[in-house]
Amino acid sequence: MKPELERAPGAALSLRDFAEQGALYEGLIRTLRDGSYVHAYLISGPAGIGKRSLAHLMAQGLLCTAKDVEKPCGACPSCQQVRDGNHPDVLEVRVGGPLCPSEDAKKKDITVGQMRNVVREVGQHSFVGGCKVVIVEEAEKMNRSAANAFLKTLEEPPEGTVFLLLTDKPEMLLDTIVSRCRPLKMHPWRDEYVLQVLTTRGMDDGLARRAVAVCGGSIGRAMDVAGDEDYWKQRHDVMQDFFGLASRSDILTVSGAWKDRKDDADALLDDVEDLLRMLMLVRLGRQDEAMLQEFPQQWQSMAASAPLESFINLMDAVTEARRLRSNNVTWQPVLERLLLRMMEEKSKW
Ligand SMILES: [Zn+2]
Repeated sequence: MKPELERAPGAALSLRDFAEQGALYEGLIRTLRDGSYVHAYLISGPAGIGKRSLAHLMAQGLLCTAKDVEKPCGACPSCQQVRDGNHPDVLEVRVGGPLCPSEDAKKKDITVGQMRNVVREVGQHSFVGGCKVVIVEEAEKMNRSAANAFLKTLEEPPEGTVFLLLTDKPEMLLDTIVSRCRPLKMHPWRDEYVLQVLTTRGMDDGLARRAVAVCGGSIGRAMDVAGDEDYWKQRHDVMQDFFGLASRSDILTVSGAWKDRKDDADALLDDVEDLLRMLMLVRLGRQDEAMLQEFPQQWQSMAASAPLESFINLMDAVTEARRLRSNNVTWQPVLERLLLRMMEEKSKW
């Protein structure tokens, strides 16, 4: 049977759609079959990779009431309720989301008030008689007192409760929380698989290929950027200005043009880094050189034969620019230094 993702645009996902995640998928199928789940999981992986979808499918699997079939069945009333977001034994926690006391509603992190409500809820009996599932999105946004309030429950979890913590920044969580969760680390999807998903959902082949090249294996990010005209416009500008630089005398012109686009600064550095990564992936033989058509000739030559060290230098130049920016160093000189380092590497080819 073909996975749902490949079958119809907008169709509900099934756990089988995660088969490409390999050991993680096999382990989950086994866990749901044997009922051998632990009380807390930490689902990590890049933004847009599918952590929330996986958590909802796990919740379905844990609460599914069908007999003698692979769980989740996706069709029983319990699976449907989880999918519709109204199962009484699934609690979802996110910044400003449900369980959020009104005084916390405008906060930018997950508050102690929210986590106290979670602790109180999981102390009650389940409505349906099975387990309770708590999904915490962007778990790294629990502030310190929220994390501490939660930690006690994680240390002595009420029977029949499963916590699913989601994060793309696991390094920002307290070690004491991480160590009490079983890790489920999602890895980037293969480019061919993302392409297949996008085109099956009706996306134009050319646009899908461009989105795949920039999404880092994240299906969610590929779908976001594909429809975002501003993104492609800025990327075009970055290509023209940063990679199309002809001589040193252009550096001032380009840095001058970008110095006022402060709101675009983070996205600019992300774009430069993405484009450099594309060049490096072609050099490593992991991406087709046809992806480089937009790049000026010198960059294409570099991708064909430069030593890996050159790419590492360039990536380092972006990291340096990011660091200087976060230290509030004046933006235009930071840009000039980045442009100069790019110019120097490129002119060797
Ligand atoms: Zn079911």
